[in-house]
Amino acid sequence: MRRSADEIAKMRKAGKVVAEMHECIRMAIRPGVTTLDLDRVGRDVLDRRGARSNFLGYHGFPAVICASPNDMIVHGIPNDTVLVEGDIISIDCGAIIQGYHGDAAFTVGVGSIASEAQRLIDVTEASLTAGIAQMYEGNRISDIGQAVQEVAEAAGFSVVREYVGHAIGTEMHEKPEVPNYGPGGRGPKLRPGNVFAVEPMVNAGDYGTRLLDDGWGVVTADGALSAHFEHTIAILDHGPEVLTLP
Ligand code: MG
Ligand code: MG
Repeated sequence: MRRSADEIAKMRKAGKVVAEMHECIRMAIRPGVTTLDLDRVGRDVLDRRGARSNFLGYHGFPAVICASPNDMIVHGIPNDTVLVEGDIISIDCGAIIQGYHGDAAFTVGVGSIASEAQRLIDVTEASLTAGIAQMYEGNRISDIGQAVQEVAEAAGFSVVREYVGHAIGTEMHEKPEVPNYGPGGRGPKLRPGNVFAVEPMVNAGDYGTRLLDDGWGVVTADGALSAHFEHTIAILDHGPEVLTLP
């Protein structure tokens, strides 16, 4: 789907709300806080900005953020588990403004963390940056994933296969999917007006996953750490614009 300048302007507004949720939640993350506390911080921002959550009620999801600590890859339901020094935590959330969606995620350490955990976080963020750099007219969808995969694997990590990025607009999850792996040169050509949520999930160990009994949380099969970064990005005539930045 190719979005008009007017539609992208609305998605820019939604993206700014998501960025503000990220900023406020990031400031609240410290040892002693629960992921349910962080969900409340996200709700406050949505209320303040008159935005709706695209997570709350999605197939029955009970919260406005996904909070996925340590070996959890994605889709963690916020609960009363207390975060402790040395944990890493992935936060994924979104917002709807005037019917248009934003969706973004980040991973951060709780207090001081192991250097290898920080390296996983930094490499995952760098893999997203590398993917975004491929978002030019004429490239194809899988060029994004190839760039993500190269950065992650060069650092000795693996990219999750079962969960992928997506087009986004008047729905959070639109077609086509945006995998985080190559080879490049495959899938639809990228066009101005396309808007995608690109979201590498990078594991310190193998890329295998396991679904928790709650039907939501996805963890690494081998119990190793996982990190997740995501932005909503519009492809414009001159290249990519990240919509989920402050
Ligand atoms: Mg997301
Ligand atoms: Mg997404």
